[in-house]
Amino acid sequence: MEPKQRIEELRSILEKYNYEYYVLDNPSVSDQEYDRLMNELMMLENQYPEYKSPHSPSMRVGGQVLSAFEKITHKRMMLSLANAFNEDDLRNFDRRIREILNIDKVEYMCEMKIDGLAMSLVYRDGKFVYAATRGDGNVGEDVSSNVLTIKSIPTRIDIKDEIEVRGEVFMSKKVLKELNEKREQSGEPLLANARNAAAGSIRQLDSSIAASRKLDAFWYYYVNAIEEGFQKHSDSLNSLKELGFKVNPERRICNGIEEVLAYIEEYTLKRPSLAYDIDGIVIKVNDLRAYSKLGYTAKTPRWAIAYKFPPEEVITKLKNIIFTVGRTGKITPNADLEPVRVQGSLISRATLHNEEFVVSKDIRIGDMVMIRKAGDVIPEVVKAVTEKRNGNEQLFNMISNCPVCGSALIKIDAIHYCPNPHCDARYIEGLIHFASKNAMDIEGLGEKIIEQFFNQGFIRSIPDIYRLEKHKDEIIVTDGFGETSVNKMLQAIEKSKSNSLERLLFGLGIREVGEKTAKILASHFETLEALMEASEEELLQIRDIGEISSRSIYEFFKDQHNCDLIAELKELGLNTRYLGRVIKVEPNFFSGKTIVLTGTLESFTRKQAQELLELYGARVTSSVSKATDVVIYGNESGSKLEKANALGIRIMDEVEFKQILQQIKEEK
Ligand code: NAD
Repeated sequence: MEPKQRIEELRSILEKYNYEYYVLDNPSVSDQEYDRLMNELMMLENQYPEYKSPHSPSMRVGGQVLSAFEKITHKRMMLSLANAFNEDDLRNFDRRIREILNIDKVEYMCEMKIDGLAMSLVYRDGKFVYAATRGDGNVGEDVSSNVLTIKSIPTRIDIKDEIEVRGEVFMSKKVLKELNEKREQSGEPLLANARNAAAGSIRQLDSSIAASRKLDAFWYYYVNAIEEGFQKHSDSLNSLKELGFKVNPERRICNGIEEVLAYIEEYTLKRPSLAYDIDGIVIKVNDLRAYSKLGYTAKTPRWAIAYKFPPEEVITKLKNIIFTVGRTGKITPNADLEPVRVQGSLISRATLHNEEFVVSKDIRIGDMVMIRKAGDVIPEVVKAVTEKRNGNEQLFNMISNCPVCGSALIKIDAIHYCPNPHCDARYIEGLIHFASKNAMDIEGLGEKIIEQFFNQGFIRSIPDIYRLEKHKDEIIVTDGFGETSVNKMLQAIEKSKSNSLERLLFGLGIREVGEKTAKILASHFETLEALMEASEEELLQIRDIGEISSRSIYEFFKDQHNCDLIAELKELGLNTRYLGRVIKVEPNFFSGKTIVLTGTLESFTRKQAQELLELYGARVTSSVSKATDVVIYGNESGSKLEKANALGIRIMDEVEFKQILQQIKEEK
């Protein structure tokens, strides 16, 4: 690939990851993978400076500002930190500083790099004024009411000058673990790491949720330290402590790089015993007077660096390979491991994805295998340690029959499936899916409970969920249930009956019908009855429904078993109408167009703009290509706008976007 092309590709991938991480608080890749791609981009940009751009993710700090909160322009930019991944990077950092300052040894302050969310606090006349997130470094979000739920933050301090204090809001390991356990029980997706958990809690509009998340914070930067007469960062931190701010006690002054390296080694070992997650060590020059001389890049100060821990890898024995059956019948091989501690948690299971994965890595039962956990909740098997083989290992054999019902498996692409629609395992998975958050959202009816009720015979099918009431007395006497919790669950079940159609459609687990397709179908047909009568051709006419989906949807509703199920659900009182907004749109400017949104719009969140465009019949995609008809851009639009210009694609600012929306409304 041409360097220019690769640079563009990396920018667009990293932008997507930034959006998932900073805006959605829901990353799809590990930080290590992100850092690897970012490093590749920075290397290419250095090698080919002609392609450098101020809009590149390598030149910009973090996230976007959500319009749900008031915006706050930071008095001084809130920057990110440059990264060091090994000893060489750290020695280079030290060498540059010594050269610029012309000294032999640098006094550093080493601190925990807390895996949380950066926060700025401003005080005036001794009183708390606001708390703001970092946002894009220049403009952040006012999250005062949520931050004030953190009890350790002082609301009054003994200093009259206006001061700003920065630090990290975080969730302790214990709280994160408890929260994830609850989410697992109710079938919600787990929070990937402490940072996303903290950020997700602070971004809640309802501050009682933030309060329930038991967040805490450490403060590591006294922004006005020099004006307040401090010469050393360490002294300014001591003063923050005296003012009542919680300052991390593990900090240490290190004289020269050797002491820094020893500190890192020490905390690499201590890391699992800390009560909070750290993803590295921050090393700062301690002499504040050197800061102006060392200066800043567009994104980071030159007087500090973040050493990032490598993903933790451990070796353990693969005792067995166990196969599980998913909702669609998908068979997954799982590693049954000799329990081993990785990053503080005990691991005994890891996914092996599919046959191809195991075969290509030549993983054998009895092998010693390398397990990696990279800040993420789900550990992965990296490889078999072949040097440790003793000849007793057994070659992997893919099973040919379903481990639960015994049906012969079928293979589609790389994946094996159990084709038996009445397989118990599939029933259980199907029920779990039906009750899950994004489907019928039945609180309290999580994975483990469904499995238990299935085995007890209380719930053997979806309609059984709505007949659970008759087992109430039996459930109450079951371990772990009280009358209150059973009542709550039954109420949640009752409530789910009035869900809008798309939830039911998604919950039914029709192959090829994900959340988005369910929404499209529900808003198009408005009632389940109308959808059930649709022909394959009719389905194919709908935007975004392709051949495979229309066939699968059509066949689902042709199956008598499924029709009986739906009739039964209707009899039990489930709603089968779409309750969302339906606009019967006349052809308009947006209908049929493929549109990309970029930058921050003032009057809409990204999601609102997308929903509006989709209602008017447009298709909203995330990357700009020749197939794009219009790019709508807001503030701080980056490479997508540049690309649109380069490709000669029609661009539209927010003012014009609103004008067209207005025109469409008037025409109606
Ligand atoms: P960063 O996390 O690498 O480091 C800077 C941040 O460290 C500061 O803003 C501050 O919030 C924090 N920090 C914690 N303790 C500190 C201390 N004692 N002193 C100073 N700062 C301290 O940088 P970032 O810009 O916040 O995030 C970029 C990183 O986030 C990437 O390197 C990557 O690891 C991760 N990321 C991951 C994805 C993904 O999809 N997985 C996407 C975007 C970013």
